[in-house]
Amino acid sequence: MCRHLAYLGPPVPLAGPLFDAPHSLERQSWAPRDMRGGGTINADGFGIGWYTPDGALVRYRRDRPLWSLSDLPALAASIHAGAFLAAVRSATVGMPITETAAAPFAGDGWLFSHNGRVTGWPDSAAALPVPPRDLLTLDAPTDSALLWTLVRTRLRTGMPLDAALADVVALVSAAAPGSRLNLLVTDGTTIAATTCGHSLSVHAEPGRVLVASEPLDPSPAWQPVPDGTLLTATATTVNLRSVES
Ligand code: GLN
Repeated sequence: MCRHLAYLGPPVPLAGPLFDAPHSLERQSWAPRDMRGGGTINADGFGIGWYTPDGALVRYRRDRPLWSLSDLPALAASIHAGAFLAAVRSATVGMPITETAAAPFAGDGWLFSHNGRVTGWPDSAAALPVPPRDLLTLDAPTDSALLWTLVRTRLRTGMPLDAALADVVALVSAAAPGSRLNLLVTDGTTIAATTCGHSLSVHAEPGRVLVASEPLDPSPAWQPVPDGTLLTATATTVNLRSVES
């Protein structure tokens, strides 16, 4: 069910977590270790968004398996970034396989990804307070795109990243109980993430932090994030608390 990751710290080549790490995102696309709730591989798309040194946001998405993107390893080796978010997708049954359905969703300087599914989709969407205009302009007719709209609406009011995720998890869990809602968002300075039904681990070192669905290497510094957690991290801090508090 999709795998995602986000990094903050000194600029590193994008190829590290995408291709070079022992359990890179590319490996997780065909040999994930901790798939829950259906799906065996993550072959339905790939995306990465990163911040340039002057703060601009660049995004690359495809509707194909990460392992099939033959030009990407060299590109990713040549691009260094100090903040990025990437994901591989396993489309939920009934949802389209298109580039626009691949995370990260992006806008206004934010990057967002969802690992999971909204129970009862698409009927359950009727119980969610989304203005029709936003519904009609979704990136794709998927639960993840709708969740991004709910998160973005809150961020635009000035709500902090973690509060926006917690608010959306509470809203969607009430409207569609049993939903799996591992959300991940960054503004290039802070990462916020939730664990609701899927795995997540965090690897913090002085001055850098990496959050990923599955550890990228055997380092004992990887800490599993318990289910029901709201994680907030910067390059120098990691905070875990209950997503319900
Ligand atoms: N439900 C989302 C989609 O189909 C996310 C899928 C996943 O986490 N595997 O895009």
